[in-house]
Amino acid sequence: MRCDELRDQLMVVDRGELPAAAAAHLEECEECAEFRRRLELAAESLRRHRTDHLPDAYFAQRVSAVAAGETDQLGWAAVRLLPVALALTLVLSAWAWLATPSPSALVEQSPTDDLLTWVLEENGS
Ligand SMILES: [Zn+2]
Repeated sequence: MRCDELRDQLMVVDRGELPAAAAAHLEECEECAEFRRRLELAAESLRRHRTDHLPDAYFAQRVSAVAAGETDQLGWAAVRLLPVALALTLVLSAWAWLATPSPSALVEQSPTDDLLTWVLEENGS
C-alpha cells in the first residue's frame, strides 16, 4: 500500500477498523503514523468544540441579507477600475498614434531605410 492511498483511507475511515494492509503500513511508515496521530488530534479537537445547538431555519437567510451580493461587489469593482481602464486606453491610443509612421513618411524616407530594404527583400525572395 502506498502512502497516499493509506492517507486517503485514513481521511474516510473514522475510528473504524483499518484493513490489515493499512495497519501493516502504519507500523512500517513513520510519516504515515505521524499523519494518523495528527489527524486524530484534529478530530478530537473538533469533537471537543462540537455543540448541540443548531441555527434556526432563517439563519442562512439573515447572513445572506447582511453580506453583500456578488452583483454589488462586481459593481464596486467596475466603478473602481473604470478610471484605470480609461487611462490605460488613452495611453495605449497615444502610444499607437505616435509609434505608427504615416504612409507619406514611409515614402519620403531615404532609399537606405527600412522600407526600401523590406521591399527589395520581399521582391527578391
Ligand atoms: Zn506511508
